[in-house]
Amino acid sequence: MLPDFVRHFKGKKPGPTVVVMGTIHGNERVGAFVVDMLAEEMPDLNFTGEIYLIIGNPKAYAHNVRYMDSDLNRLFGPDYDELKKIPVDERNYEQSRALELGPILESADFLLDLHSTIRPSVPFCYCEYNELHLDLAFCMEPKYVVSPEIRLPDLISSTDNMVDRHGGIGITFESGWHQDDHADHKVLEKVKIFLQKVGMYDFAVRPICEGQPHLAIYEQVICETDDFHFDNPDVSNFDFLKEGFVLAYDGGEEVRVKKDSYLVFPKTALNKGNIACYLAYQK
Ligand SMILES: [Zn+2]
Repeated sequence: MLPDFVRHFKGKKPGPTVVVMGTIHGNERVGAFVVDMLAEEMPDLNFTGEIYLIIGNPKAYAHNVRYMDSDLNRLFGPDYDELKKIPVDERNYEQSRALELGPILESADFLLDLHSTIRPSVPFCYCEYNELHLDLAFCMEPKYVVSPEIRLPDLISSTDNMVDRHGGIGITFESGWHQDDHADHKVLEKVKIFLQKVGMYDFAVRPICEGQPHLAIYEQVICETDDFHFDNPDVSNFDFLKEGFVLAYDGGEEVRVKKDSYLVFPKTALNKGNIACYLAYQK
């Protein structure tokens, strides 16, 4: 039996197993829109392979919050199997949901996980940097492709990492800061290009595949004190910082960047011990 909010459609001909995940963070609504629209279309199509259309975190979606108890998209790292050892009645909501979705991710040949950002941002993809991944990532027309050069736990515990560990190709797409419905339809069109690219069906949408800059994350910035604030209060994803630029003040001390960098994933909970942001360089 399928878990809640997971729809599965099987084509007439054998082919790839594809997962399109939306709203694994409950307040990122665009993914749910795309998943619901595709679920309406798929039964009428003569497509190849099979597709899982998943609302990642339905409870957080209903409450319009990122998560209920813990970030679901940090539970798919190398220690995923440890979750199974937690007694069933002691698992929190996201731990239980991760264990429901894990087997589907493990079976996937391709995953597209749809997000939007909490701060203004251009669209970008997060995935491994190689030909197979880039070929698919470029379908989404990202402004950048971001990959981890440092294998920190937070950077390798998302759904795309789990699919990659099991021999598939996982792509996380951050569709940008969503304010209007037209943007949702644009994302839907890009997802159809992705499904065309993996050979599921010809949706008769224009394929696009161009190169985009690659940003490699080389450092994480940790708050050393509870008095951490960015120098620019309107700091946003992909701000370019020249070598020597004062990024932030931490306990009154300047935090400078050591080389020309792009700021990636700036956080809002800037408490002692938390990650404030990552730094990436263009390869
Ligand atoms: Zn997200």
